[in-house]
Amino acid sequence: MNQLVDSFQRVHTNLRISVTDRCNIRCFYCMPAENVVFMQKSHLLTFEEIERTVRIAVSLGVNKIRLTGGEPLVRQDLHKLIGKLSHIEGIQDLGLTTNGILLAEQARQLHDAGLSRLNISLDALDPKLFREVTRRDGYENVIAGIEAAQQVGFERIKINAVSVRNLTESQIVPFGHFSRESNVEIRFIEFMPLDADNAWEREKVLFAHEIIKTLSEEIMPLIPTDEDSPESPATGFQFADGVGRIGFISSVSQPFCMSCNRFRLTADGKLRNCLFSLEEADIKSLLRGDGTDAEIRQAMLDSIAAKKEGHEINTARFIQPDRPMYSIGG
Ligand code: SF4
Repeated sequence: MNQLVDSFQRVHTNLRISVTDRCNIRCFYCMPAENVVFMQKSHLLTFEEIERTVRIAVSLGVNKIRLTGGEPLVRQDLHKLIGKLSHIEGIQDLGLTTNGILLAEQARQLHDAGLSRLNISLDALDPKLFREVTRRDGYENVIAGIEAAQQVGFERIKINAVSVRNLTESQIVPFGHFSRESNVEIRFIEFMPLDADNAWEREKVLFAHEIIKTLSEEIMPLIPTDEDSPESPATGFQFADGVGRIGFISSVSQPFCMSCNRFRLTADGKLRNCLFSLEEADIKSLLRGDGTDAEIRQAMLDSIAAKKEGHEINTARFIQPDRPMYSIGG
């Protein structure tokens, strides 16, 4: 089997698929507050086109799929796509990253369709701060979504919490307790330069080591765990008494690019070999034209072969991609 191996010998087995750029909230580290121009529906890949692309990717060794957005649950009948993908032989892990606003009403459908993993983006356990970060209401919906997901049988749910200096420090300890009381893993994510307003500054990044210090002093020491796979972007910990798991995705302070196994498909059919890639490869025209599977396969191989060593956030060479986070997907 041909594999998706880049010039640094990284084998790519994890495809993240954005199914829409639309979202029902406006997180400041991702979207502009107002006047967002979304893609037209006709420009989005259909479920059949996504399924075909995944089958081709599986033939190249991909075995893990994560659906993202924008907010994937605003895409109509998403459970039907999950049903299609969960029946593809070779897919070992089918996950979704959601903001949880629509999760309570869709949790059963998603679970029954074959979704295996859930990551829920939530940056605050305080409705007021939630509103400040997302510029929309909906905090209670997210909490209800987490509960509904646990009730229908989702296990190992992860909460992705973006940490921003002088904004979310007050949430560190409450999230620590939340991980211990509700059996969900909290993953603190360092703020990354992918915001639509280009307002990212290094001074606004709350680093993982600072959060570890606060949790260890305010609750109890954190012990490293080795539960996460080597390719996982997260570094895992648990509290010393074994109750509560905490993870860190430290793209800025501890880049993990040398173990990266991920690439992305945007909602409008562009392959991105890295979250911060400045180049994209269009496969929609192949999918909609008379492109063959072999041509699409070659486009994937070429995209990965051209992958750079990693992001250059910590260098003077860094250029923020034109495409903002909400139309790339987490
Ligand atoms: S920045 Fe790019 S290379 Fe680095 S881990 Fe993320 S996707 Fe992989």
